[in-house]
Amino acid sequence: MQNPIDALIAEKGILLADGATGTNLFAMGLQSGDAPELWNEQAPEKIEALHQGFVDAGADIILTNSFGGTRHRLKLHHAQDRVFELNKKAAEIACAVAAKAGRRVIVAGSVGPTGELLVPLGAMTYEDAVAAFAEQMEGLKAGGAEVAWIETMSAPDEIRAAAEAAIKVGMPYTYTGSFDTAGRTMMGLAPKDIHGVVDGLADAPVAVGANCGVGAPDILAALLDMSEAKPEATIVVKGNCGIPEFRGTEVHYSGTPELMSEYVRLAVDGGAKIVGGCCGTSFEHLAAMRVALDGHKQPAERPGIAEIEARVGPMRNKSAAQSGAASAPAGRRTRRTRG
Ligand SMILES: [Zn+2]
Repeated sequence: MQNPIDALIAEKGILLADGATGTNLFAMGLQSGDAPELWNEQAPEKIEALHQGFVDAGADIILTNSFGGTRHRLKLHHAQDRVFELNKKAAEIACAVAAKAGRRVIVAGSVGPTGELLVPLGAMTYEDAVAAFAEQMEGLKAGGAEVAWIETMSAPDEIRAAAEAAIKVGMPYTYTGSFDTAGRTMMGLAPKDIHGVVDGLADAPVAVGANCGVGAPDILAALLDMSEAKPEATIVVKGNCGIPEFRGTEVHYSGTPELMSEYVRLAVDGGAKIVGGCCGTSFEHLAAMRVALDGHKQPAERPGIAEIEARVGPMRNKSAAQSGAASAPAGRRTRRTRG
């Protein structure tokens, strides 16, 4: 049985995922420290508006409002006993929007980190992590989510636990790391090693990649490493909309629709099959990204770091700029012709 992401890629070539959840919910009145997941029950019309905004902007994949939906995260808001219902509701809201889109829109169930460290660094056992993710995914699946979208991950063993949970629950899954620490995740995972994290599990991921991080140039450099390490993989990039700037208590992201359009074209050329935005990406940004993607269906020449920096700005992590993708001679790269 073909999973929904492969099926839509076969039809459309490259898919556009949605933009920011947190940034847009803050703009709708969410306060710092609030659990966005509680809005699935308290303010479902706002979550619906979030999804509708991205569907109207042209998203092929929308992510449910369930990033912090494990019991470990919900415990901070005394909602650890409502994991199933809050996640189910998140998926139901997204599915209702997707159903009236007038085109195929995939609902992916967002699954973020637990916030706990696994043994031996922390107190959470691997089995506990699998159980916590499975509990969340059961709710997402019951609400209609088609894929478990494991994202913003740092620890390889936590990715593996979430992947194992998805298999247990019977959902296809994707996972992405946040390479925000000198070109690696905070727990030291390098982009080129993302593919091997779930080796040996019964089902392979539908897609792997990077999200969040520190801006367009760095996530594109991570993409080069990931696509070079495994050219046949379906790779996701869902990068932040520029760099956060603090204006008083407000966080503003520096990316413009033009910058995000250039990021989309470079991501396609770098081998990504699913492109979206993370923090700071508004409906307006995503609409510009849709136009950019539709105007750039076939990958052009694979870019190097110098071209990425010339087109979307300097890398933040110089050590990432010195990694394998940056130093490999251009001639070693094969031109991507799929899609
Ligand atoms: Zn982000």
